[in-house]
Order: sequence, then structure tokens, then C-alpha cells
Amino acid sequence: MMVENIEKKFDAEQVIEDFEVLTKNAGRIQEETLKKILEENGGTEYLKQWGLNGRTDVETFKACVPIVSHDDLEPYIQRIADGDLSPVLTGKPIETISLSSGTTQGKPKFVPFNDELMYSAMQTFKTSFAFRNREFPIGNGKALQFIYSSKQFKTKGGLAAGTATTNVFGNAQFKKTMKAMSIPVCSPDEVIFGPDFQQSLYCHLLCGLIFRNEVEVVLSTFAHSIVHAFRSFEQVWEALVVDIREGVLSSRVTVPSIRLAMSKLLKPDPELADTIYSKCSSLSNWYGLIPELFPNTKYIYGVMTGSMEPYLKKLRHYAGELPLLSADYGSSEGWVGVNVNPKFPPEMVTYAVLPNIGYFEFLPLEENLIGMEQANSPVGLTEVKVGEEYEIVFTNFAGLYRYKLGDVVKIKGFHNGTPELQFVCRRNLLLCINIDKNTEKDLQLAVEAAGKHLVDAKLEVMDFTSHANVSADPGHYVIFWELSGEATDEILQECCNCLDKSFLDAGYVSSRKVNAIGALELRIVQRGTFHKILDHFVGLGGAVSQFKTPRCVGPKNSSLIQILSSNVVKSYSSTAFC
Ligand code: AMP
Repeated sequence: MMVENIEKKFDAEQVIEDFEVLTKNAGRIQEETLKKILEENGGTEYLKQWGLNGRTDVETFKACVPIVSHDDLEPYIQRIADGDLSPVLTGKPIETISLSSGTTQGKPKFVPFNDELMYSAMQTFKTSFAFRNREFPIGNGKALQFIYSSKQFKTKGGLAAGTATTNVFGNAQFKKTMKAMSIPVCSPDEVIFGPDFQQSLYCHLLCGLIFRNEVEVVLSTFAHSIVHAFRSFEQVWEALVVDIREGVLSSRVTVPSIRLAMSKLLKPDPELADTIYSKCSSLSNWYGLIPELFPNTKYIYGVMTGSMEPYLKKLRHYAGELPLLSADYGSSEGWVGVNVNPKFPPEMVTYAVLPNIGYFEFLPLEENLIGMEQANSPVGLTEVKVGEEYEIVFTNFAGLYRYKLGDVVKIKGFHNGTPELQFVCRRNLLLCINIDKNTEKDLQLAVEAAGKHLVDAKLEVMDFTSHANVSADPGHYVIFWELSGEATDEILQECCNCLDKSFLDAGYVSSRKVNAIGALELRIVQRGTFHKILDHFVGLGGAVSQFKTPRCVGPKNSSLIQILSSNVVKSYSSTAFC
């Protein structure tokens, strides 16, 4: 993670070689990484209280320092954000704060960001790019990247705060590295950093069309943004064609800096306008839209696992035959793993952990679920067992020590000495009334099963979320759906019953049978409701590129419940267990 290494010209073979060396020595590298973290930060107020007394070995660390969650560290992080320059969590002062998406809590939360996290982001991108480019080489083309910056602001103590994506993408060093990987983006910076998401999206699409023959990759941080972009394209394509024909940007774009930047790209091009018009008019239900619009695209790229899986069907529809490549696994707290098998379909993607970017521990999960968390100590990176599920506990260079990331992963195998993880779900996104426990994955499968009843009516579930209504007696699950059109009551009743039957967890089924959990409710919300949720998230300082629809809305998240409830148009109660 030395700066000099990052600055060297990009050499894919060398990057792969370095990765092989690191992963072959994963155990030793982990010990060295922890030692380095503790040497740099052992004198901090936080670590001093645990009595390490200068010791940097794994055993002492595990014996002295407790496993914590974000709530435990929040007071320390807040003091840093408020301007405390003493070594609170890190030896070197923290100058930047990242905002995690806070999907679970409903509002972004603060995490410390520093140069070390930047280098690990670059190492991750370079490694996965090297593997990806070996299988899917790209030439001198461009990337159509649906990326949006978040609002940046200063904390009370004057620290810069923005999303990790913005902190990384806005960094000069990072830009240099990306340039070395020769993937210029279609859109000018004014579009990427524009203040209005809708206007930026419109211009991203326009830039893509202007450079349509050069586009080799279509990407975003999370796959949701790509689906969202092409759903919007269905609505605005005629306006885009007019702009291209006349060489004048639509009046819907009002931000002066964006208008100026776009005026440098946009020239009247009736021939291009005719081509796009005829392609869009001839497509059946927009199948294969992406390769039609951008004929030289080699692949589509973005995080496609976890809460992004429900968008895969739509993405495949737009992508036609193009390969879908899932991006890497990380969080605002730090990167975790790299997709080194880019040919795997998203459902099979695993992430190889980079052993030098942090110190990783894994809490065995099964025992946790039956309440034995305290009795079970976490295992180290090289001690995990294939087939087992764990929660990740993370120690990084930016002041997080034995921090529960909140993600559940399954070990699928090893790359040399480092495990390959499959992302399973967020740990605390659980539907739970009493002895039942359904994760976001269970919910996703139930929605997929019930959604099959919509196929004949040529309808689809555009987005969904859930809520455990414990204020009712008996408590019950409420599932919210936004649909692509209107379905009959009969179909929706079938969907509702099917949802109820599709939660196969024994606790749920047995509780339903004795009515300890009441009938599942399916509530249909009007079109645009999930867009309002996204707007709400952006209003709280989140970035669109980082947005993940919360699949389970907790009782504390009253503003989301309010948005959902005020948009319900129909509601059904399951008769499945009657
Ligand atoms: P944020 O804190 O907003 O950066 O979001 C980080 C969270 O996004 C992680 O903790 C995961 O829950 C999720 N995430 C990130 N990368 C992936 C991935 N490749 N697959 C599935 N979920 C991911």
C-alpha cells in the first residue's frame, strides 16, 4: 500500500503477481497488517484504555480489545467530527469523514476516512481491473458511467464530509490511477458533480448516445443505478433524440455549469438522431436496449450481489446477451474483497479478501442466531471453514477496531490462502416478530416466487420492501410492492398468499399456523414511491450511486414508513393459512 507503488504505471501482470504473493501469504500478512495498525495507533485514547501496553500480537489484541458496533464508536467519531484533534481513534488526525448509506438505520452515519483507505480502494480497483481486463480486454473506448457525487459539507469541527464514493472519486491520486487504467468516462465532470441528480442522469444518457460507438463498458457503483438509468431512458428517449437532432440541450437541464459543459459536446446530428429513433422504435419491450444503443459494449459492470440481486432480471433484459460482471465488495468502512473471477455470473460471484487492507475476523453465525454470540469467539481470516456463514469483524487503518460490519458472508473456497466470500445479506435486516427470522435473502426469494403470478399479466415488481408490524396484535409481515402497471385484485390476492407461503423458515410457518403471527399483508404503492424514498435518502446527504433500497424498514425509521404508508393504493391480507 505504498504511495510509490500506486503511482507507478498500471501493469496488469504485476498487479496480478502482487495479488498472488499477498494471498499465498495471507496468514503472515494479516499478522503484519495488525502489527502495523497497532504500531501506528496504539497510543490513541481508544486503544490505550484496553491495556495493550505496546503489544501488537493477535492474541493480546483479541484478549484486550472488545468487539464493537458503530453505536459503540459513535461518540469517539462524533468528537473527531466536532474538531477534537487529539489522537482519539488514530495516531494521525482524521481530516475527512465518510457517510455510509446507513440503509439499515435510515440515515447516513459517519465513519472516519483517510489516505490509507484511499490506497486500499485503489489496490482493490487495480486488482479487479487487472483480472477483468485479462478476460474482457477493453480498447481505447469510453465508459458510460452512471455516477453521481453526493453533497459535500463540513462537519461542526470543519472536517470535509461526503460519501466514501465521493471521497475516493474526488481524490486527485485516485483520478491519476483511474487514468492509468485508461477508461475515460463519457460525461464531463460538471455532469458527474452536478447538484441535481435527474439532470445529471439525463446528461449521462445524452453523453453516452453522443459517444455511442466508443462506449465499451456501461457501469455504476451499484446495479440499481443502471436499471434506474434505463428505466428513465424509456421515459425520456424522445427528448434525447430531439436534443441530438437539433444540437440544443433540453430546457429540463437548468444548471448553468452542466449546460456549458454539454454545449461543448452537443452538435446537431440528424443522422445519429435517426439511428437512435429507429432503434428505439423497433425494440420489443426494450429487450437488448443497451447493446442496441451502444454496439461496442463489452460488458456491464456494478455491484450485482446482495440487495442488488432483485434488479438482475431487469438488467439482463436491458443487457440482452452482454455479460454482467459484478464489482467488488466494500463499504464506507473499508474494502473487503475483490472479484477475481469476472466470468462468473452475478449469482455465483465471490470476493477474495485482500489480506493487507485491514485485519479481518469472522464471527461464526449459526450460533449467533440462537443467541450464543458471546460464547463464540471469532476466527481469523485463514481459519474460516468452507460452507460456513460468518459476520465480518473488521480492524482498519482509519480508527475502527474489531468493528462489526453488519454483513453476513458465506465461505465458498480459497484463493491461495485467502478466503473467497459470497455476500449473503445484511445481518440486522431481519423480519422478526417472535421466533421467526427471515433475512433479506428470504424476502427476495419470496418476492421472486410471488412475482411469478404477475408474468401472464406482463407485469413486474419494480421495487419492494418490508416491515414487521409488531404494533398489531398479532404482529404480522407487511410487504410493499411497486408494480410496473395495474394488476387485478384476483392476481394480487394470489401474490399475497404466495408471499405468505414462501417464507419457509420453521419459526414463521409454525407461528403462522397457530396465528402467533397474523396474516401477511401485501400493500401496493403508487408508481414513483421508491423514487421518493431515493429522494428522501439523497435529501439526508446520501449519494444516488450509493443507494440501496432498504429491504426491511425498522420501526424507528418513521419517515420511510410515512412515505410508504401515504402512497398505498391497495392492500391485501393473506388467506393462505386460513
Ligand atoms: P456503504 O456503507 O453505504 O458504503 O454500504 C456498504 C454496504 O453495501 C456493505 O456493508 C454491504 O452491505 C453492501 N455491499 C457493498 N458491496 C457489496 C457487494 N459487492 N455485494 C453485496 N453487497 C455489497
